[in-house]
Amino acid sequence: MSLTARIAENLATVRKRIAVACGRANRDPTEVTMVAVTKYAEIEWIEALLTLGELELGENRPQQLAARAALFSDTVHWHLIGHLQRNKADLAVRHAALVHSVDSPRLLAAIEMEAASTGRMVRVLLEVNLSGEKQKHGFDKDELEATFDTLHGHPHVAIEGLMTMAAYADDPEAARPTFRELRTLRDRLQPRCPEGVELRRLSMGMSGDFEPAIEEGATLVRIGSALWEGLPAATS
Ligand SMILES: *Cc1c(COP(=O)(O)O)cnc(C)c1O
Repeated sequence: MSLTARIAENLATVRKRIAVACGRANRDPTEVTMVAVTKYAEIEWIEALLTLGELELGENRPQQLAARAALFSDTVHWHLIGHLQRNKADLAVRHAALVHSVDSPRLLAAIEMEAASTGRMVRVLLEVNLSGEKQKHGFDKDELEATFDTLHGHPHVAIEGLMTMAAYADDPEAARPTFRELRTLRDRLQPRCPEGVELRRLSMGMSGDFEPAIEEGATLVRIGSALWEGLPAATS
């Protein structure tokens, strides 16, 4: 089977599973955007994905995102899904359509500074660490609730929602409470938002747990390995 055929088949399987999960939750599948995570993908795999019409791509490292953004047309929307250091904020500002991983007030301020200096508007999500795992990034939930009102007032940053990663587990259902917690946190924070700020996006769910995430209200799912099944392991 050709590379493109293999990826097309994987993509169709994921799309079908997204549609079925939407059906179970009575949601319109157009409400859920799949971000194809390309961090382990070869360039040819990305090219194949683009020929299949996928334009929402995710990278977890800002350097790789910037390098790959330079290789492809502007019609591709790059999502930065991994940790961003303040000294790399310029890469995210220049190349990311959506930054999923804002995890501190200082990073938000650094993004504002870069965005202002280039006259751009940057769309971001606030990452929340709900699993409590030390190796994961993100605002602590209580800290976010305590500081939320101080996060606004950056004229070049649009806060559009929240992102989380569930703890790794073999059973996708184990992640459901985390996803539900992100949604209820959003529901609590929304009334505190200034006029015009809408936390309408929830980025949650990966290859192993996107179905419960969709049932709990995900509007963005970040899918990597499920798209690359059956392909030779990446060398980079
Ligand atoms: C790698 C990654 C994903 C995709 O993970 P898969 O299990 O390969 O689907 C999603 N989100 C983040 C933040 C990632 O780093």
